[in-house]
Amino acid sequence: MTTFDGTANGLHEDYRFVLPQSRVPTHWYNIQADLPVRPAPVLHPVTRQPVGPDDLAVLFPMACILQEVSQERYIPIPDEVRDIYRLWRPTPLVRAVRLEKALDTPAHIYYKSEVGSPSGSHKLNTALAQAYYNKQEGVNSIATETGAGQWGSALAIAGDMFKIDIDVFMVKVSYEHKPYRRSVMQTYGARVTPSPSERTNAGRAILARRPDHTGSLGIAISEAVEVVATSGGKAKYSLGSVLNHVLLHQTIIGQEALDAMEQIGEYPDVVIGCVGGGSNFAGLAFPFLERNLTQGKQTRFVAVEPASCPSLTKGPYAYDYGDTAGMTPLVKMHTLGHDFEPAAIHAGGLRYHGMAPLVSLLVNSGHITPRAYHQNTCFEAGILFARTEATLPAPESNHAIRAAIDEALDAKAKGEKRVILFNLSGHGHFDMAAYDAYLAGRLQDSEFSDEALAQSLASLPEIA
Ligand SMILES: *Cc1c(COP(=O)(O)O)cnc(C)c1O
Repeated sequence: MTTFDGTANGLHEDYRFVLPQSRVPTHWYNIQADLPVRPAPVLHPVTRQPVGPDDLAVLFPMACILQEVSQERYIPIPDEVRDIYRLWRPTPLVRAVRLEKALDTPAHIYYKSEVGSPSGSHKLNTALAQAYYNKQEGVNSIATETGAGQWGSALAIAGDMFKIDIDVFMVKVSYEHKPYRRSVMQTYGARVTPSPSERTNAGRAILARRPDHTGSLGIAISEAVEVVATSGGKAKYSLGSVLNHVLLHQTIIGQEALDAMEQIGEYPDVVIGCVGGGSNFAGLAFPFLERNLTQGKQTRFVAVEPASCPSLTKGPYAYDYGDTAGMTPLVKMHTLGHDFEPAAIHAGGLRYHGMAPLVSLLVNSGHITPRAYHQNTCFEAGILFARTEATLPAPESNHAIRAAIDEALDAKAKGEKRVILFNLSGHGHFDMAAYDAYLAGRLQDSEFSDEALAQSLASLPEIA
């Protein structure tokens, strides 16, 4: 174990494992090479025929489009991107010994900590790759949306690294309640517009109907896509989750975790991540899932979503649009319907109506188990984590922590030495209003409405 800067002092076991910089992965792992079934084709929103690379070229650089459909198992990471990864990667794998003690569990709880990235979450892993490929193809401007602000911050940093202008549509309620996320983006030179806005037809149409609309991720996507579609080819669009190439870029998380666990001599019985669009979960899970698919390992994979936005546990596996206005291609995924409006819970990054097609497919095939929790129980778990492990987690990550704790308690009840691994996707330093609300007892566990779901599902496109 000499490669680790553990904390052994003769009294305690090592519990923090950091691989040397040379172990930053050289390739991304593409699970499409190992899928049990072929993914459903992506369809054009108007013709409803399978899209080809040219249909997507308006939105994305060709390198990302090719990664979207690639069947190569390992895709090389460009040196320029890997060099920037090395500013904070490999990220630590930590055994949560203090949390284990507090729970009095025989389980070993490990977490992969993405909190130390410059943007405070895993999202910079793909932002850098996407900015790089855009630059390579001569693109100088990228439009995008951001909900809670984490994706916008990550892309703002990546854009600055590769000298690309970043144009962010930020969901209005977050713009107003999270001014410092906006300041972060502006510090790195990004333009930030509250959405819905007067800058686009999509935004103006919403404001005409409801001038006080506080926005949604689906609307902000429509605005960003419209800016790109009307830019005369000058700007491209970038998405922080959901798509295959985004999940691909996040697989460095799981590869590093696998590398470190092999050196420790442990292997997870269960791998856990929170899911909004599915990228941090997939990033950690897919390199381990490869072992299930190709080497007969039996690890369980648990994807944790909010009970108020339960695309995996309540949404059908069906074709739907990625945005509210219906401008994006149609993808087959677990969805609540593209005009579903989730309750205003504090895990903003988990309030998306759909789910990554690759995660959806693997839930449908039984390789991934979904689970849903209300937000109060997640904050309770997050605070126990903060007060034992010291790091204050993002509200999104609290969902993964809740599930990890429940696994550890279940192992205790059954007297099992279970090895649990979860992704600590980000820190919560910009989310203190949410913690305030929890501590004051003002956090609502909003009821999920089956009528509202039935209504939004009625607008799903009918695909023959
Ligand atoms: C965006 C975000 C998520 C949810 O997005 P995924 O694509 O599902 O990972 C989770 N945690 C944090 C900290 C985030 O910023």
